[in-house]
Amino acid sequence: MEFSQYDTNALMRITNRPPLVFVEGRGMWLTDHAGKRYLDYLQGWAVNCLGHSPQCIVDALTAQAGKLINPSPAFYNAPSIELASLLTKNSCFDRVFFANSGAEANEGAIKLARKWGKVNKNQAGADRYEIITFNHGFHGRTIATMSASGKAGWDSMFAPQVPGFPKAELNDLASVERLITDKTVAVMLEPVQGESGVLPATREFMQGLRELTRKRGLLLIVDEVQAGMGRTGTLFAYQLSDIEPDIMTLGKGIGGGVPLAALLCREEVAVFEAGEQGGTYNGNPVMTAVGVAVIKELLKPGFLQSVKDKGAYMRGELLKLCAKHGLETERGEGLLRALKLGKDIGPQIVDAARDMNPVGLLLNSPRPDLLRFMPALNVTTEEIDQMISMLSDILKKLGN
Ligand SMILES: *Cc1c(COP(=O)(O)O)cnc(C)c1O
Repeated sequence: MEFSQYDTNALMRITNRPPLVFVEGRGMWLTDHAGKRYLDYLQGWAVNCLGHSPQCIVDALTAQAGKLINPSPAFYNAPSIELASLLTKNSCFDRVFFANSGAEANEGAIKLARKWGKVNKNQAGADRYEIITFNHGFHGRTIATMSASGKAGWDSMFAPQVPGFPKAELNDLASVERLITDKTVAVMLEPVQGESGVLPATREFMQGLRELTRKRGLLLIVDEVQAGMGRTGTLFAYQLSDIEPDIMTLGKGIGGGVPLAALLCREEVAVFEAGEQGGTYNGNPVMTAVGVAVIKELLKPGFLQSVKDKGAYMRGELLKLCAKHGLETERGEGLLRALKLGKDIGPQIVDAARDMNPVGLLLNSPRPDLLRFMPALNVTTEEIDQMISMLSDILKKLGN
């Protein structure tokens, strides 16, 4: 089929899409309307942690869809019970609330922290509600999560902002400490900033934050929507720093491609009372059945180690690419990696990679001087080699 045969005018123009319609996906590969294949290093922005249409997800989806699609969150359903216990057994958290998107899980985290700040008032007896977040951080696109985010240009977009999110600097503990007032209730961050260009919080910083928040009676919230679910080579990114946060949010990878997210907290923080949090699709059995299939795959012996190993392999190959083409450096954790180009050629590379023939390569450039890589966690070393070789060809073609 020709692209011109699709009438795309009924869709809102929320992003500049290339003239491609994807019709099929398998593992690391996507096929477009014309039958051209693409090696996919976006994977739905770190969503398809097991690649496109893995058999375990197809099986879980079809089995659950044929059994029970939606009993309503007013009742228990078996897959959500099973997924909640798998998550709590394998983390430092005790309670789970399921949501449909990362932003919705983060809204829940913000509500939970504010509720906790009503229960645990300050010395003057007033509610605490301020949540310290970080410059360049990203927490979603709802009004509150945009205000919590520290993306450049977002403070004036859709103004007025939701108040109560002062911004500190990542890896600068003093900048956090300076913002603490008698209204502060929590500190919220991505253990690896994703949208800002894969900037990991250091182990020292995470440990310092944990100590500071404990000392000052504040909650520590980690947004692991992008970095969680095996992406860093540990099941959760906070485990890299050997700390125990109070609240965590998950999204993206937890559903392996279907809309699923989660808000987790420790028992002492589970202060929602009946009626204070909810949503029509929360804990939907079709989505949580997929979540069960995904986490069981990640927990198979050797899986997380293989993510670490392939992350290290990819790091080595990206560093070689830097040396060969005079690029700045690479950084990241596990299979969430970025290449610092040292010049603003990211968007050019993305276009050239996609348009390569006979097969294309899908890459992401969250900043003009940077490429971000979010392969499936079961990517093979051959697929890493193929990406590196294609990227090297493009860099040469673009005169680097
Ligand atoms: C993608 C992302 C979100 C938002 O998730 P949605 O599912 O798009 O709402 C929030 N936080 C982080 C760190 C993300 O990467």
